[in-house]
Amino acid sequence: MKAYAMLGLNQTGWIEKDRPVCGPLDAILRPVALAPCTSDVHTVWEGAIGDRHDLVLGHEGVGEVVEVGELVKDFKVGDICIMPAITPDWSSGEAQDGYPQHSGGMLGGWKFSNIKDGVFAEFIHVNDADGNLALLPPEIPPETGAMLSDMVPTGLHASELAKVRYGDDVVVVGIGPVGLMVVRGAVLAGAARLFAVGTRQNCIDVALAYGATDILSYKEGPIYEQVLDMTNGKGVDKVLIAGGDVDTFDEAIRMLKPGGAIGNVNYLGSGDYIKIPREEWGVGMGHKSINAGLMLGGRRRMERLASMVVHGRIDPSLLITHRFEGFEHIEDAIMLMKDKPPELIKPVVSIKY
Ligand code: NDP
Ligand code: ZN
Repeated sequence: MKAYAMLGLNQTGWIEKDRPVCGPLDAILRPVALAPCTSDVHTVWEGAIGDRHDLVLGHEGVGEVVEVGELVKDFKVGDICIMPAITPDWSSGEAQDGYPQHSGGMLGGWKFSNIKDGVFAEFIHVNDADGNLALLPPEIPPETGAMLSDMVPTGLHASELAKVRYGDDVVVVGIGPVGLMVVRGAVLAGAARLFAVGTRQNCIDVALAYGATDILSYKEGPIYEQVLDMTNGKGVDKVLIAGGDVDTFDEAIRMLKPGGAIGNVNYLGSGDYIKIPREEWGVGMGHKSINAGLMLGGRRRMERLASMVVHGRIDPSLLITHRFEGFEHIEDAIMLMKDKPPELIKPVVSIKY
């Protein structure tokens, strides 16, 4: 089969691979809609998870089931399914302890385009199909459905990490496609004032549509100074991070109230350490917590979030700025993600049979 892969650090290209083999609990799908992720860019061009050779990229998409293992109960050939970016082993100890995304070891639930071939292939292997696939509701077009693999579940996880409450004042750092979903999630979780940090006009428009109340630019001085100025020096209850770098945590601590929390879903592609400013952290006694995590994955999670889309709570179609038709356009889509032209939020490739 044909697939689009990381050939090595800083290198991508088309390769031929064997069609994956379906185990008794697994499913094989062919792609219907695929999207590249900024994480693919960190992986290839920043070497963030180390070198990989001929690793098929991609972990976001909707697919059609073409084969199921003999022990799969709930899916059949022809089903159109959301393929979650995170596909845990649900019988692992970590999953039973409540952290399926770390099944088998840290980040072990993140298999596609990390520890096994991703979804940018003519055939895609999904482990534990009953636990990991979710039927795409017929009301959701496949291109929008592809936003449910990663953008929606990751974005909403930021508020879960920081435990956003009704009436919280919240800063969302970064309003790319992930940060925009963080904004929507925080609004649904009850944010009162919501400062969104970013500069691209397209993204600003969607942030406002999703419920941001104030827009800040990190290019106009430190974010924490702007936030402290606008809150009479008090700061905010929660800082949700979906952009920036290792230094963003320093700023986040400075703009949090005592008792506040950070929820980070940013993938830190470079830098060795995160610094915490001692005094602003209450010299160790400020009750300012840092929570950072990979989204959960799994079928029920996908079904619940898809239901929120069906019932109009979230409209992830606003993220899609570039649409391609045909599997061969995967390369164009990922290069757009790498180059980040100002008008880009998220590209999607649809595949017709
Ligand atoms: P984008 O690159 O599209 O967006 C990044 C955002 O951060 C932009 O709004 C950008 O502003 C802003 N930004 C850039 N530099 C700074 C800075 N110094 N200070 C503050 N803001 C800054 O990324 P995505 O939305 O696609 O993804 C966000 C992150 O989430 C990525 O690191 C991605 O890998 C990660 N991710 C994590 C997952 C998880 O499960 N935890 C899953 C999927 C993705 P501007 O408007 O100027 O461009
Ligand atoms: Zn992703």
